[in-house]
Amino acid sequence: MRVTVTRAYKTELDLNNRQLTACKRHAGVARFAYNWGLARKQEAYKVTGKSPSAIDLHRELNALKKIELPWMYEVSKCAPQEALRNLDNAFAHFFRRCKLKQEGKWRGKVGYPQRKTKKQGVGSFRLTGAIAIFPTAIQLPRLGRLRLKEREYLPLSGIKVLSATVTEQAGHWYVSIQVEQEQTVPVNNGPTVGVDLGVKTLATLSDGTVIPNHRHLKRRLKKIKRLQRAVGRRKKGSQNRKKAVRTLGKEYRKVGNQRANTVHQFTSRLAKTKSVVVIEDLNVSGMLKNHHLAQAISDVGFAEFRRQLTYKAAWYGCRVIVASRWEPSSKTCSGCGWVDEDLTLADRVFRCENPGCGLVMDRDLNAAINLSKLAGSSSESQNACGEDSAGRSREAAVKLPTQSGA
Ligand SMILES: [Zn+2]
Repeated sequence: MRVTVTRAYKTELDLNNRQLTACKRHAGVARFAYNWGLARKQEAYKVTGKSPSAIDLHRELNALKKIELPWMYEVSKCAPQEALRNLDNAFAHFFRRCKLKQEGKWRGKVGYPQRKTKKQGVGSFRLTGAIAIFPTAIQLPRLGRLRLKEREYLPLSGIKVLSATVTEQAGHWYVSIQVEQEQTVPVNNGPTVGVDLGVKTLATLSDGTVIPNHRHLKRRLKKIKRLQRAVGRRKKGSQNRKKAVRTLGKEYRKVGNQRANTVHQFTSRLAKTKSVVVIEDLNVSGMLKNHHLAQAISDVGFAEFRRQLTYKAAWYGCRVIVASRWEPSSKTCSGCGWVDEDLTLADRVFRCENPGCGLVMDRDLNAAINLSKLAGSSSESQNACGEDSAGRSREAAVKLPTQSGA
């Protein structure tokens, strides 16, 4: 089956000095436009009780550009325009979370949009329009042809480029292109598996596979703590402190990459080799308080794990079922169905007290087996890629959990 998917490709740029300056300038203008827009929205809201949209703000900014901000002509007009669009999205998410909070469905922060500062890094900017891809380079509006560090990673044909985002992180520059692409979904004959995300391990599968946490993460965290102390010892505003902050930033980048990689590999492996994957619908903010998730997953977030698994499932013909939050998967005996109401997080082994059964099993494995059993009973679930998913497969995939949750 062929489907149209929207996906992104991210790769590192190899910039020369002139391009580096131009990229920094673009990021600077994007940051300026975002902060300016935020201030304008706040002002307008105080006076009129209404907030101008990204389109209104862009028109206003363009008028200002001619008189007060001539330096903005040095960058692509997309940079401020897309930054204002991001601001609109930031407010939309803020209002969405406020509503959820009122309904009692959100326990985290509501996240009112904040000013962007250079302290958080150089930042990023997004461009649309004429974008061309070559085997070793990418051509962007106003920036010209930028060399890529990896050869032929970006697809050359069969795609429609929607936008390109350039980002800086710890001195490295990346470009991420969002594309629309036709894809063939393979026939997936793999087994059904339940996945229990672990405390001490990354995950336990119902077939008995245990996916361990990577040890190197722990070592890196130790190093980060040491570097944080080094920053604290340096005098504020000094060159040595700046240097220490840079070293710390590099280490954060490494550990972030390693964790993201762990989760990417895990979700790919599941989607490629299993035909049905059953996961638990975890209340993320509650889970983090319990330190219930392995470090790699708690770092990228359970929502990110589920997002990756869902979109990859659509690529590889796998089906994701999300079990309801109230399904007592860890408290139920996978052998006979007896429920241990007293089971706590500290109990690592499940012991069935039903005299006819007496099952003794690793707690996580027991939970994973219970989850895998839900695959058969859940008749409402549907294929993650959906039959009519052409062009909309990603949205369809994201909606799936709520439909099959019960
Ligand atoms: Zn039992």
